[in-house]
Amino acid sequence: MRGLVLTDAGPQLCHDRPIPTPGHGEALVRVRLAGICATDLALIAGYKGGYRGVLGHEFVGEVVAAPDAPEWINRRVVGEINMGCGACDLCRRGLGKHCRKRQSLGIIGRDGALADYLTLPLANLHEVPANVSDDEAVFTEPLAAALEVLEQVHITPDSRVVVVGDGRLGLLISQVLALTGCDLTTVGKHPAKLALLREWQTGCTLLSDDPALDQAVNADVVVEATGSPAGFAAARTLVRPGGTVVLKSTFAGGLPQFDISSLVVDEITLVGSRCGPFAPALRCLATGRVQVTPLIQARFGLDDGVAALTAAGRRGMLKVVVAPS
Ligand SMILES: [Zn+2]
Ligand SMILES: [Zn+2]
Repeated sequence: MRGLVLTDAGPQLCHDRPIPTPGHGEALVRVRLAGICATDLALIAGYKGGYRGVLGHEFVGEVVAAPDAPEWINRRVVGEINMGCGACDLCRRGLGKHCRKRQSLGIIGRDGALADYLTLPLANLHEVPANVSDDEAVFTEPLAAALEVLEQVHITPDSRVVVVGDGRLGLLISQVLALTGCDLTTVGKHPAKLALLREWQTGCTLLSDDPALDQAVNADVVVEATGSPAGFAAARTLVRPGGTVVLKSTFAGGLPQFDISSLVVDEITLVGSRCGPFAPALRCLATGRVQVTPLIQARFGLDDGVAALTAAGRRGMLKVVVAPS
């Protein structure tokens, strides 16, 4: 089969990868559509040093083999990306997503979704409702990551919340947080992208130039979704004393420089935030509460996978999707 493989020499399309064999309790999934996200680009840039294998963790596909559960065959599915060892202290406490020996699809120790086929445990799979298209379902994983903010931080209709970042993830997070009825401001650098939030009637305030940031200060919660030192600095400035900063992006260039003592004095809570719940993400897609397909900006075949990665890395690019067939 074909697979877009991260090698020592960078990403390469390989034509002779063996089709993976599903293990006990696993399914073989034919990929219908995969998405490229900042994590893929960070892996190429050296984040997590050393992942080598098929890239990609956002996908929708169909089960073609499931030795232990043939009833799954032909079901259209999305899949949670983390696999704990199942035996360690963390896994036994239900914290498998933080298992020190975990595999993560296309990120740690398990070939990913930018390929013709992948395998995942059946326990990771969620069937996609019939009224959710492939173009929508491919957003389940990043939408779940956006919903994770609500799992971690108590946001009420009275909360004053700022999202820093108008990229693919920032636009998903803004939509999800808008559902709470909170006083929401999204800060970005691209008026055209911010305008999408207006089109979708999220009701959030949009700010795109630095002087206007004064309107956003003293937020109870700031969500950083740029992965840039400047974004982090903005988040730190906008949060009120006693407030919370949620970090939604990894920083490929290492930790931004900032005054840690000021976090102590102002009693700021920093929350790292990664993968989230799939079932509510699929529910948001099925009920049309979150708009995702306007985020698709480019579409490639798997044969042009390397070009797809390059396109995804271009400044201001929203979602790039790759269709194997
Ligand atoms: Zn991702
Ligand atoms: Zn474990």
